[in-house]
Amino acid sequence: MSDRFDLVVVGGGIVGLASARAIHRRDPRLSVAVLEKEPAVGLHQTGHNSGVVHSGVYYRPGSLKARLCHDGRAALLDFAAAEGVPSRTVGKLIVAARPAELGVLDELHRRARANEVDGVARLGAAELLGRLPGVAGLGALHVPSAAIIDFGAVARRLAERLAADGVAVLVGRALRSARPTAAGWRLETGSGEVVAGYVVNCAGLHSDLVARLMGTDPPVSIVPFRGDFYRLSDRLRDRIPTLVYPVPDPRLPFLGVHLTPTISGGLLAGPNATLAFTREGYRRGQWDPAEVARQLAFPGTIGLARRYGRFAAGEWFKSWSPAEYLAAIRSVWPSATAGDLGPRTSGVRAQAVRRDGRLEDDFVFVRSDRALHVLNAPSPAATAAFAIAEEVADAAGVGGGAR
Ligand SMILES: Cc1cc2nc3c(=O)[nH]c(=O)nc-3n(C[C@H](O)[C@H](O)[C@H](O)COP(=O)(O)OP(=O)(O)OC[C@H]3O[C@@H](n4cnc5c(N)ncnc54)[C@H](O)[C@@H]3O)c2cc1C
Repeated sequence: MSDRFDLVVVGGGIVGLASARAIHRRDPRLSVAVLEKEPAVGLHQTGHNSGVVHSGVYYRPGSLKARLCHDGRAALLDFAAAEGVPSRTVGKLIVAARPAELGVLDELHRRARANEVDGVARLGAAELLGRLPGVAGLGALHVPSAAIIDFGAVARRLAERLAADGVAVLVGRALRSARPTAAGWRLETGSGEVVAGYVVNCAGLHSDLVARLMGTDPPVSIVPFRGDFYRLSDRLRDRIPTLVYPVPDPRLPFLGVHLTPTISGGLLAGPNATLAFTREGYRRGQWDPAEVARQLAFPGTIGLARRYGRFAAGEWFKSWSPAEYLAAIRSVWPSATAGDLGPRTSGVRAQAVRRDGRLEDDFVFVRSDRALHVLNAPSPAATAAFAIAEEVADAAGVGGGAR
């Protein structure tokens, strides 16, 4: 006997779960399932991130990231408030450490206004120090609306709600192969077949592989970038109640090592962004020969090395040398010492790379016959998930109903 559904979402991260919710809310008559390979939802990117509810300062006006971050943030915070998932508005300082970064700060201020981010203010060095004694910088942007949350808790709550509403959340079911049929798909999961009329691929770090096994040649390839975090001392935690970010390199989709109060009451520094040689490689030095072979065969790898080789080397050093990491922290918090660095954790980003080696800067959706593939949903996709979900429902042709 096969399980049969009108629509199956592959991937029980925040994007897949929010998409299943949007589809079910628009048309409750559809039978919907989420297939998740792990024994629980939200165990990969959704459960290994900075936990920052972004306001939308960084993104190019007009981009999907700009629009969906703006809309998704509001929907996420509404869901969290309604469902009792704690979030806290702590604000953010984006701090320029070098004169060359002041121009980037001005551009971010312009983007913040274009993206309708409320209350963003440009601070001089003295105002910055007045706002947060101990921070160092030539100037800053203050983003009062930035918040923190546990995205893993949001995913778990979403899964509970979906199950209560009759959406099947099938954990421990990995999509292994897919066969198109006249009416949709036969999906082999390793523990039984699932029949689907339509498939939405939200497989995160595996999204390009899932697209391929469904017969779609994706325009991008996922390259895993590990980010290491250090838990910081209570001494620093008690002095840093707000998010402190460096000015990002505008050529990269990464935001740099930042200081992040967590909703559970800690303080993290991180993440850096170092190439990982396995898709779910949370530990340094892990590698998977099949993944390395795939990366070597991918035409974009040479372009990637050429464009970003220097950056990659610097991030690799940061990953192995606590002193290098500390230097990044000290660029915004000069009094941090090696003694402030506590235990390390990490997350792995699913970053899409184009065939010419460029890192894809925006969210990417690709439609194929009876399927939709979400092929680039890195940061701020956790913040934007509820708005990405509406795009997914539109693209899947599920109309009407409640939003
Ligand atoms: C270090 C780091 C810091 C970040 N910081 C932030 C932040 O502060 N704010 C923010 O908004 N975003 C942040 N992000 C980005 C954010 O975490 C992701 O954009 C978001 O979680 C993506 O969600 P997802 O559902 O697409 O992916 P995931 O959470 O990775 O979910 C994909 C799911 O698909 C499942 N899957 C894969 N293959 C299969 C298969 N074959 N069959 C069945 N299931 C499968 C996986 O097991 C996984 O559960 C950060 C990410 C990282 C790594």
